[in-house]
Amino acid sequence: MDAAQPTSLNSNAILRINLDAIAANYRKLRDRVEPAICAGVVKADAYGLGIGKVAPVLWDNGCRWFFVATVDEAIELRRILPEAEIAVLSNYLRGTEVELISNKLVPVLNDPADFACWSSASRAAGRKLPAIIQLDTGMSRLGMMPEDVEKLAGDQDAFKGFTVKFIMSHLASADVHDSEQNLQQLDNFRNALALLEPLEPNAKACFANSAGIFLGSNYLYNMVRPGIALYGGNPTPHLSNPMSPVVQLSARVLQVRDVPAGTHVGYSATWTAKRPSRIANLGLGYADGFLRTGSGKGRVAFGDLNAPIIGRISMDMTGIDVTDIATEACRPGDYVEIIGPNRPLDDVATDHQTISYEILTSLGKRYRRVYETSHKS
Ligand SMILES: *Cc1c(COP(=O)(O)O)cnc(C)c1O
Repeated sequence: MDAAQPTSLNSNAILRINLDAIAANYRKLRDRVEPAICAGVVKADAYGLGIGKVAPVLWDNGCRWFFVATVDEAIELRRILPEAEIAVLSNYLRGTEVELISNKLVPVLNDPADFACWSSASRAAGRKLPAIIQLDTGMSRLGMMPEDVEKLAGDQDAFKGFTVKFIMSHLASADVHDSEQNLQQLDNFRNALALLEPLEPNAKACFANSAGIFLGSNYLYNMVRPGIALYGGNPTPHLSNPMSPVVQLSARVLQVRDVPAGTHVGYSATWTAKRPSRIANLGLGYADGFLRTGSGKGRVAFGDLNAPIIGRISMDMTGIDVTDIATEACRPGDYVEIIGPNRPLDDVATDHQTISYEILTSLGKRYRRVYETSHKS
């Protein structure tokens, strides 16, 4: 990635999103899971990175199945990708049939009561509409409960009214590679699939998210649903990150000053200089999604040195202690690395007491966004 200094002076922070890295991450996962299909999860505006930019890159690299959370997100994606298979994760609601059908969307059905609705929508449409069935294998979020599955298995006509494309479930602890829960959910999924198989022998199975892909080949089934790994988050937290970094965030130094010991910094004076210090103010804050939980905990990078965040992160600004940083490395107008090679996304998330998913989906609208790619479209 080009490390050239940003030219725009009108915003205080620059967010670089490397579309080639997203493409490389998709291809890496796709090659790893073959012959399973590699879908792309692009809910929440492609994890905050911009679905209008991200979805075409995935499509150009062979991705044909996409998952979003809501019907509105699906309609937006339909405008971007006229030919894609688009599944809506949460939630099938009676009354959305017209939008689902006219936009060729695939609902995820979570409850036997949904079946009757989707069957009558199919009758009205004059053809069997596609659906994905979700099973709850232990997360207790969405999906059919084991007792629903058992009841269903006794009803040969349960899936007759529509086309079951996939039967899916979601792992609760995939990021904890040795969690007992993964094995339990895998076992529950396997048993449920065996029960439902006779109802629709052509239905395929879909289980793993990003981290699930790395749990072993028995988790892959016919299709996988990675999200965070496409965007550079580490799907194997116990190992170094196999994915390419996608996001770089840098913020401008607004002011630098030398202060005597005893000086308070920021709202509520939560930090006090213990020694004569040099402090700098950066032009990003919680209104940019630079989460306030990083106050007094986070760090920013000056090459391989770090400067700690001091005091409270405020709406538009963040204070750092640069006493131990060379004066010429931190002058007003310079850009400081917030997320990048020396401050990986997952480390920033840990410092801000959260996960990479929340850092990405919180990225603010005020950043100047630069999409980097060597391909012209
Ligand atoms: C968000 C989501 C995914 C993607 O999960 P990652 O951990 O980001 O790979 C997959 N499946 C379901 C049901 C989801 O809600």
